Amino acid sequence: MANSLCVHAHAKINLYLDVIGKRPDGYHELETIFHSIQLHDDVIIRKCRGEKITVHCDHPKVPCDEQNLAHRAAKLMIEKVEDIRGVELVIRKRIPVAAGLGGGSADAAAVLWGMNQLFELNLTQADLMRLGVQLGADVPFCLLGGAALGRGIGEILTPLPPIETPLVLANPGFEISTAWVFQNHNFLLTMPTENVRILVCCLQNGDVLSLADKLHNSLEEPVFLRYPAVAALKAKLAQFDGNKGVLMSGSGATVFVLMQGSTESHRLAKQIESEVAFCTVTTTSKVGLCIA
Ligand code: ATP
Repeated sequence: MANSLCVHAHAKINLYLDVIGKRPDGYHELETIFHSIQLHDDVIIRKCRGEKITVHCDHPKVPCDEQNLAHRAAKLMIEKVEDIRGVELVIRKRIPVAAGLGGGSADAAAVLWGMNQLFELNLTQADLMRLGVQLGADVPFCLLGGAALGRGIGEILTPLPPIETPLVLANPGFEISTAWVFQNHNFLLTMPTENVRILVCCLQNGDVLSLADKLHNSLEEPVFLRYPAVAALKAKLAQFDGNKGVLMSGSGATVFVLMQGSTESHRLAKQIESEVAFCTVTTTSKVGLCIA
């Protein structure tokens, strides 16, 4: 039996996101289309003799205590399975933090899924998703991976056929609090949106061009008002040759550009890398998690 496992925890983008209501418990009801991307963190899970959960991560913005979502995921697994006492987690962060790419959720999903494999627990995907939603609304999707329509708070998932396309991610270098964005979302100011069903059809038909034309995120409105630099970044990226569509992901501030090809993607990245804090060329992914 192995003593450790390295899991690739993939980031996500939202090809569509609309806030459709607020629940009495304060959570927002969403309609969203998630897609996994190749950009990933490495999450190493090691069995250990002690009765502690330890997290090592050298990213200055990522806590290593109980506030770390991966730590909380390990605690949930330990509470559920009496035989496991402690575990050591090493997180190599590549996904920008608080950037709308679901990095913390991906790490948490990697711990749930990876511990299930490493300790041969035989929990089903439904079991893992029930644990995952206790940690965050995006964790169930990170467990599922690929492409999916998300309803409820994002946890009621309908799998969709993933698409294959290169993309460029650009981040202006400041963090945006997801809670702040939802608090400042104004239903009255939001324009009537394209129906999510149109995008679902585009995915079902593998029609990337039409899909790229219909990208939508109603959270852009509060973010662009408070952070005009994100609006300016989106406008700039939309001018580059070879772009098929540009959108802010999740609650921002990362903006993604669906690209025609890899050559155009690298050309774009080269042209803007000196102007943004983070820029990378990646592609969509069919999976959210895999063993490294
Ligand atoms: P969401 O939209 O789900 O809030 P996000 O992609 O915008 O996610 P994350 O990268 O998950 O943002 O980070 C959100 C906050 O969570 C940060 O303030 C960070 O300190 C904290 N955090 C806790 N655990 C992690 C982790 N493993 N990786 C990254 N951030 C983490």
